[in-house]
Amino acid sequence: STHDHLFKLLIIGDSGVGKSSILLRFCDDEFNEKQASTIGVDFKTKFMQVRGKKLKLALWDTAGQERFRTLTSSYYRGAQGIILVYDCSQRSTFEHVKFWQDEVRKYSTNQDAILMLVANKVDLPDQQVTREEGEEFAFANSMMFIETSAKTRQGIKQAFEEVVFKILDT
Ligand code: GDP
Ligand code: MG
Repeated sequence: STHDHLFKLLIIGDSGVGKSSILLRFCDDEFNEKQASTIGVDFKTKFMQVRGKKLKLALWDTAGQERFRTLTSSYYRGAQGIILVYDCSQRSTFEHVKFWQDEVRKYSTNQDAILMLVANKVDLPDQQVTREEGEEFAFANSMMFIETSAKTRQGIKQAFEEVVFKILDT
């Protein structure tokens, strides 16, 4: 077999927060300043070597459906890890985290799914959400938390590694 474990991870959050950019950085180490939402990938695979095991990650992205908040239950089904992203330079995207969390509760069939809250675009000068606010929300809701920038690479690899470690330990 080509791998020891196959994990389904999905990435959710408001349109424009950088979901596709995070996946593009993690999988191909690329970044597009003008990432067109229509070009957004909807599925990627990535192999990772962790603790001597070969992992295959199936990474599910939206092709813009999140704009209409119409992700279906099949998108969520069976995911072991869920990466919930907001843009810390756009306050409204942080306020909508609750909406996405409710969607996970409604549709995720896996009670043990690991949730990681991601504050993306920390490279931008005008921040509308503090690190402490993100951390507090994550802590109060039993999620992990990390600050990232798909542009500078900050936290990107670590975000996926931490989710994978937690899945392996659960
Ligand atoms: P999605 O709709 O959530 O998939 O968001 P996209 O990945 O399409 O990104 C939306 C816009 O934000 C694009 O113009 C990206 O180049 C930009 N972007 C994404 N991540 C970052 C980041 O970490 N820093 C900065 N400065 N821009 C980003
Ligand atoms: Mg996208």
